[in-house]
Amino acid sequence: MRVSRLLLVTLRDDPAEAEIASHKLLIRAGYIRRVASGIYAYLPLLWRVLQKISAIVREEMDGSGALETLLPQLQPAELWQRSGRWAGYTAGEGIMFHLCDRQGRELGLGPTHEEVITSLAADLLRSYRQLPVNLYQIQTKFRDEIRPRFGLMRGREFIMKDAYSFHGSEECLRQTYAAMDGVYRRIFQRCGLRVVAVEADSGAIGGSASQEFMVTAEAGEDLILTSSDGLYAANQERAVSLAPPAVPLPGGMRLSGAGEPLATPDATTIEQLAAGHGFDPTQVVKVLLLLARFEDGLRQAVVISLRGDQQLNEVKLVNALTARLGAAHGTLLSIEPLSTDLARELRQKEGIEIDPAALPLGYLGPDLEEGALVDRRGLAEPAQGMARGSGARLATTVLRLTDATAAALTAFVCGANRPGHHRVGVSWEGLGLTPDVVDLRACQAGDRCLHDPSQTLSAVRGIEVGHIFQLGRKYAEALEARYTSESGQEETLWMGCYGIGVSRLAQAAIEQNHDNAGLNWPVAIAPFEAIVVSASAQDPQQVSLAESAYDRLRQAGIDALLDDRDERAGVKFKDADLIGIPWRLVVGRGAARGEVEVVFRADGHRRDLPLDQALEVLISAITASRSGLGDSA
Ligand code: ATP
Ligand code: MG
Repeated sequence: MRVSRLLLVTLRDDPAEAEIASHKLLIRAGYIRRVASGIYAYLPLLWRVLQKISAIVREEMDGSGALETLLPQLQPAELWQRSGRWAGYTAGEGIMFHLCDRQGRELGLGPTHEEVITSLAADLLRSYRQLPVNLYQIQTKFRDEIRPRFGLMRGREFIMKDAYSFHGSEECLRQTYAAMDGVYRRIFQRCGLRVVAVEADSGAIGGSASQEFMVTAEAGEDLILTSSDGLYAANQERAVSLAPPAVPLPGGMRLSGAGEPLATPDATTIEQLAAGHGFDPTQVVKVLLLLARFEDGLRQAVVISLRGDQQLNEVKLVNALTARLGAAHGTLLSIEPLSTDLARELRQKEGIEIDPAALPLGYLGPDLEEGALVDRRGLAEPAQGMARGSGARLATTVLRLTDATAAALTAFVCGANRPGHHRVGVSWEGLGLTPDVVDLRACQAGDRCLHDPSQTLSAVRGIEVGHIFQLGRKYAEALEARYTSESGQEETLWMGCYGIGVSRLAQAAIEQNHDNAGLNWPVAIAPFEAIVVSASAQDPQQVSLAESAYDRLRQAGIDALLDDRDERAGVKFKDADLIGIPWRLVVGRGAARGEVEVVFRADGHRRDLPLDQALEVLISAITASRSGLGDSA
């Protein structure tokens, strides 16, 4: 390919729309253009990168025995209703784009394909003889992300490889899951990425075990916690650890379990309470008041107690609420602090009356009275005046959940449930409560590890490029995907699913491989492996040597680019560095002697060599590093 024909449009300045380096560089170097929020055109240079990543993914997936397929992106609501995910994906904070066709039938644009594939499995898979089977596709996915950002990192339309495996037993599922773990490690290594595998939350997909693959990078949206011995690594969403020990309250403050009142005006936060009254945050139980909305209309007030130095892990909370109430009340649509704004919205849209002004916010105790927070008529029926058909109603009791760090305190400080007051020396018995203990805390760097308390966790940021799940039988049960076992029994299929964010991976590779001059692609996924540049487009000797070098590289099967533009050498070098071509062959004044310069982009190493030798060096280095098992000059 000749640069003059490449439609190369580079920008000198950073675009205002981009915050992180990889996003800025993708735009500046002419790889992408934004069409709308979270929606990008993949320009020819990026398309080559995506094709190379896809080729590696295909080779490894095919090599594992998986079959490539292509499933529809338009998916009928009915399938998602059968799996119970339609409401969760379309209402509340749901991320599925959905629409009605001309017959008034509802459809969704595929954010993922468990429903479609499982209904196909129900149709196609009949006998144990067909199992196991693993089907994959590489395709555009649609997700109406709440916060699309960072370019291809979190798009609303993006390319994913997704695979779904079906099995006759859990043991067989585990084997394929382990095989996919190996396949994923090879794919990422071949793409030239530094990746860590971490224990992950299974999220809205569901299922039991799951593992994410994280590209370590400062710009990552995820926090990864790892132990120093390397035996434990988890996404913070999922991580477990030992919290730092609490500082006991002085003996004199531990006498009465009901607690002594303490006037604490203007101490509505843990920091103010600590600063103003000398308590250590670990001596305090802080209380959060939240409202959870469920699919069937249930509005549930939730009182959370955490030790004062701890933070709430929202993913753990969502899982706990779903486990307790999901079966009876459907999908958890949202969980939010019970603020004045939320109360207003509840009154206007759902006819539910909660007056937060009447609540002692900032001074809540774990024993907060439920009077104002429940349906006092105890009817659990739709409140009067609410929107017809929404069925919204307040629960008849408050749900109180206590993190283990708070439950373990024997004497603590907490709000007195009246403005301006706390209580000191409180115990759970003194409050008349038996804590309902749930792990709700967010682990932090510095926490001690569960597997070995002499180890501590450290934190790094990561970009999730892949996620593998053991789904179990959740979807197969819902969509009645069964097979006949060897003994002639009808049995439900076991299932796994395995995703890679192909477009996100391309950008993550840049986040890990760039410098001030531009991108610095790993050879295996670079749009072109080498670029031939003649210093002067006016010098016929240079031009003809460059042409011949270019031809010979292509004949050797190298993805080569020839900068044939009539530009200054400096401009051409800058562009080559900006778009990040790994190898550069410069034809300059040495052309008269048949000599050229070979430059390796990653470390700037350069050598003057006779053309034949230069080509040899280039071709053998590129061929060796195509495997992604280490680029070197
Ligand atoms: P995240 O936690 O980042 O929202 P997810 O858990 O929803 O991702 P999966 O459903 O596991 O993602 O999708 C498989 C892969 O697709 C992810 O590992 C990620 O690499 C990629 N991916 C997910 N959402 C997006 C997006 N909005 N834009 C680009 N890639 C994405
Ligand atoms: Mg995920």
